[in-house]
Amino acid sequence: MSLIVQKYGGTSMGSVERIQNVARRVAKWHAAGHQVVVVPSAMSGETNRLLGLAKEISPQPDSRELDMLASTGEQASSSLLAMALMSQGVPARSYAGWQVPVRTDSSFTKARIKSIDDARIRGDLDSGRVVIVTGFQGIDDDGNITTLGRGGSDTSAVAVAAAMGAAECLIFTDVDGVYTTDPRVVPEARRMAVISFEEMMEMASLGSKVLQIRSVEFAGKYRVPVRVLSSLTDPLIPLEEEMTSGTLITFEEDQKMEAAVVSGIAFSRDEAKVTLLAVPDTPGVAYSILGPVAAANIDVDMILQNQSVQGTTDFSFTVNRNDFARTLDLLNNQIGPAVGAGQIVSDDKVCKVSIVGIGMRSHVGVASLMFRTLSEEGINIQMISTSEIKTSVIINDKYMELAVRALHKAFGLDTESGQAANP
Ligand code: ADP
Ligand code: ASP
Ligand code: MG
Repeated sequence: MSLIVQKYGGTSMGSVERIQNVARRVAKWHAAGHQVVVVPSAMSGETNRLLGLAKEISPQPDSRELDMLASTGEQASSSLLAMALMSQGVPARSYAGWQVPVRTDSSFTKARIKSIDDARIRGDLDSGRVVIVTGFQGIDDDGNITTLGRGGSDTSAVAVAAAMGAAECLIFTDVDGVYTTDPRVVPEARRMAVISFEEMMEMASLGSKVLQIRSVEFAGKYRVPVRVLSSLTDPLIPLEEEMTSGTLITFEEDQKMEAAVVSGIAFSRDEAKVTLLAVPDTPGVAYSILGPVAAANIDVDMILQNQSVQGTTDFSFTVNRNDFARTLDLLNNQIGPAVGAGQIVSDDKVCKVSIVGIGMRSHVGVASLMFRTLSEEGINIQMISTSEIKTSVIINDKYMELAVRALHKAFGLDTESGQAANP
């Protein structure tokens, strides 16, 4: 008998029939003698619907109230799942984040989990119940409901698994694992049976929405075995088959296929670029620009400063598209005048495309194949950033899918033999 945490995403919870199927799958694990904690997302489309209502009321709604609103989606799906389980004869009880409690900081709409009290959950498990904990939400020290950022139910699930020392955290979703890239963009993408923790971190942080980045961080910090698998298979497939399906995030690097240098392509459309032209090239300028941006709680991603010509230089950086309006406002009204920038230009029609692979550490020529491939497609690279195991470029977002498909092919990811031979 093991303690298993199972997370079901929005599509998996998307209708009454799907919720009943989730209940059948959970009932199968329960009947096999496992203790099961389920973490559901809101039914698909529900979080967007709620946030859309808020936007109709106000262009910039209050973030505390946004969390009050958005958290209701998970409360509804959790109670429906509890009812579905009970109607199938399985004792079950659902809890909202505040009832557990899942304690977070007070950063509304992007709160971080600080601790989870598992006493109530354990009590129910020990009395034979399936426990359902709402994904995506928690409570801060002042008793306010918080949410964990889009895709945050993944993080709720891994955090519950970490807090309870679960044997495995199963992330059930609408694809049957982690692919070489998003299979919706490249139909030839292939599922990986295992992916290293480091590669999964990069893929998630560079935009692969299959897992929220913080869930991967939690998995790494607490060594939680995480498996991504499909919720759309027959719910009654044998447990042994289910337990070896999908993609396992592995902490053992040597389990990785040896030869593949690039193992995945990630992309993100959530990007925006701003440039201050002709700022003085003097000590302290980067700080004068980025200090107020950080103080406004805006995350900066890529930064590019050119060599100075006649004592001035151009300074560009990228931010999440959600923060674009606020960033521009800050630059135009505060930072630009303060540093004496010549002009401020901006572009929110950019995207980031990245190649990822732990094999890149020991191979040269990987980035140059990326640049050649993009040039052959006539795609202009606006910014580049590299780390040990990834190279990212910023390009015009109308070329995003073309770039992803071309790179997927160029690195041989369409076939197993092609991938093994990539440079
Ligand atoms: P859920 O609602 O279950 O959390 P998400 O939509 O958040 O599901 O994540 C699953 C989706 O992630 C898939 O439908 C797929 O389009 C997308 N995705 C992006 N990159 C990848 C990848 N590398 N492998 C698999 N899926 C990916
Ligand atoms: N329902 C939330 C969202 O749509 C959380 C999640 O699905 O993980 O972002
Ligand atoms: Mg998700």
